[in-house]
Amino acid sequence: TKAKPTRIDEKTKVTFKDVAGLKEAKVEIMELVDFLKRPEEYTRLGARIPKGVLLTGPPGTGKTLLAKAVAGESGVPFYSMSGSEFVEMFVGVGASRVRDLFKQAKEKAPSIVFIDEIDAVGRSRDKAKSFQSNDERENTLNQLLSELDGFEANSGVIVLAATNRLDVLDKALLRAGRFDRHIYMELPTRIEREEIFNVHLKRIKTDDSVKVDLLASLTPGFSGADIANICNEAALLAARNKKEVVTNEDFTQARDRVVGGLERSSKIISPNE
Ligand code: ATP
Repeated sequence: TKAKPTRIDEKTKVTFKDVAGLKEAKVEIMELVDFLKRPEEYTRLGARIPKGVLLTGPPGTGKTLLAKAVAGESGVPFYSMSGSEFVEMFVGVGASRVRDLFKQAKEKAPSIVFIDEIDAVGRSRDKAKSFQSNDERENTLNQLLSELDGFEANSGVIVLAATNRLDVLDKALLRAGRFDRHIYMELPTRIEREEIFNVHLKRIKTDDSVKVDLLASLTPGFSGADIANICNEAALLAARNKKEVVTNEDFTQARDRVVGGLERSSKIISPNE
C-alpha cells in the first residue's frame, strides 16, 4: 500500500518575506490573506471572495512558494497535491484522491488547497485524446470540477493551482466560480534576482568577495528556483573544499554548473532585459 499522496502542512512557516520580487502577484494575493484573517469583514458587506486562483508562469518562478506563503501569512493549514499524482493507472483512484483532499480541507476550514501541475488533470479534453488513460483522467477532472462547485464561496476553503501550461487547460476549469482569477508570475528582472539572491544568501556564510549585484547581472533568464539552486551548490562546493566561508569563486562555479544543468535539460536561456 502506498502512503497517501496529499501533503498536509498544518503550520507552514513560509511568509511573504521568503518570496522575493513578484510585487504585483503579492498585492493580488494579499486579498486572500486578508479574507482568511477577517472573513466577517467581507461577508458583512456581501463581498464574494474567489474560490479558485490560478498561478501561471514559467517553472521555478515561485508559484508553490507563494501559495505556501498565503497559508503561512494567514495561519491556516495547507493541503497540497500534484496533478500528476491524481492521474493513476487504477480506475477511480484519481477521483477519490480529489474527494479526499477536499474533504480534509473542508473539515479544517479555513484552509488552502494547492494543486500543483493542474494541467496533468486539467488538460483540455479534445487535446488529450491520444492519452492512454483518458477516461480515468476525465473522471478525475470531473471530480475536481464538482468539488469546486460543491462548496460556497466564503466557506473558508481557497483553492490555489499552478501551471506553466495555461494554454492547454480545459476551459471548464476557468469558468466563473472556478479558477476565474489568474496571477501571472514572470521570470525575475535583474533587480528581482538581486532580491532573490539576498533571501537565499541569508542562510549562507559568505565573505566580502560575494557581490549580489554582480551575481544578479550574470544570471539573466534564471528563475528563482535556479538562483536557490546556485546558492546551495556554492555552499556545497565550499563545504566540500573545507572552506570557512563561501566565496565568489564558489558562486561562479555553481553558476556554471547550474547553466550546464539547464543546457542539458535543453532549457533556453534568454536574457529578459
Ligand atoms: P514549478 O512550476 O517548477 O512547480 P514553482 O513556480 O512552483 O515551480 P517553486 O517550487 O515555488 O516554483 O520554487 C522553487 C524554489 O525556488 C522555492 O522553494 C524557492 O527556494 C526558490 N524561489 C523561487 N521563486 C522565488 C522567489 N520569488 N523568491 C525566493 N525564492 C524563490
